[in-house]
Amino acid sequence: AAKYAGKGKFTVFEPAMGERIRDREHLKADLRATLQTMEDLFVFYQPIVEIQTRRVTAREALVRWYHPDRGWISPAEFIPVAEESGLIEPLGRFILHRACADATTWEDEERVAVNISAAQFGGGMLVDSVREALEETGLRPDRLEIEVTETALLGSDQGVIEDFGKLRALGVRIALDDFGTGYSSLAHLRAYPFDKIKIDGSFVRDAVTRPDCAAVVKAIADLGRRLGVTTVAEGVETQEHLARVTEEGCSEIQGYLIRKPGPSERDAPRVEAINRALRLKQQKS
Ligand code: C2E
Ligand code: MG
Ligand code: MG
Ligand code: MG
Repeated sequence: AAKYAGKGKFTVFEPAMGERIRDREHLKADLRATLQTMEDLFVFYQPIVEIQTRRVTAREALVRWYHPDRGWISPAEFIPVAEESGLIEPLGRFILHRACADATTWEDEERVAVNISAAQFGGGMLVDSVREALEETGLRPDRLEIEVTETALLGSDQGVIEDFGKLRALGVRIALDDFGTGYSSLAHLRAYPFDKIKIDGSFVRDAVTRPDCAAVVKAIADLGRRLGVTTVAEGVETQEHLARVTEEGCSEIQGYLIRKPGPSERDAPRVEAINRALRLKQQKS
């Protein structure tokens, strides 16, 4: 946006509030179109591993969108757009269904962990789509885990707690995601009995250099043990990270050290083709 900066001068700072808003509108329109077919939406999976046994206990479902002009778009970018436009509901329904369907093909019957955003809670839609996804795919309810972030619980009302109760009654497990990054973390633990606490990757990475962060990780792991709750260290990228969180008493890990999120077997060929085309395009430009 041009701004008058005195005596006949215009400068271009404040780069682009208007542009950003237009960008978001475009993204919203494109997402709406994509949701008609779901063709460019993929669900990737990343294993979560028990430290003691090295066994994969679950795989987290992480949505990916391939945009023909923009390439891969991160969920951190388009989930908020979906939330504010009501598109999170069809999107969330699709992800739940796809994740449950994929999990039925896993030989070792690991659990599948699906992220649910704040906007999906309350109002009855969430519990309905979970029930539907389980019924239509035949996935055993105790193999589904719902991940909810602390920030999603901010100012959470009775509706969220009621949904938790209904999900639990179905046999579904509930994990508290990104623990430690939101407000009043401990209040959330008192308000609801979670099955799993996921310690945010920022603590894990800092724990190797900062004794205070290591102490926080240990405190959460101890708390988990006392509560009988699994504690997962997120964002474990190196052996050093692993050694540290093992030392502090976490029960499970997730991160690039084990594996980056990747497509299902069914989607792998298409994703490889897309990435090949992207590399070619990059080489040309
Ligand atoms: P999250 O649920 O905390 O997921 C973990 C994020 O950390 C993922 O980013 C994952 O790819 C990334 N990650 C895993 N291991 C490592 C590591 O070792 N180092 C680093 N630096 N990062 C690692 P992603 O896939 O980009 O997702 C970002 C966030 O978007 C998720 O955070 C979640 O809050 C949201 N999200 C992703 N998929 C969905 C979805 O299907 N539905 C909803 N509502 N939200 C989703
Ligand atoms: Mg998560
Ligand atoms: Mg997380
Ligand atoms: Mg996160």
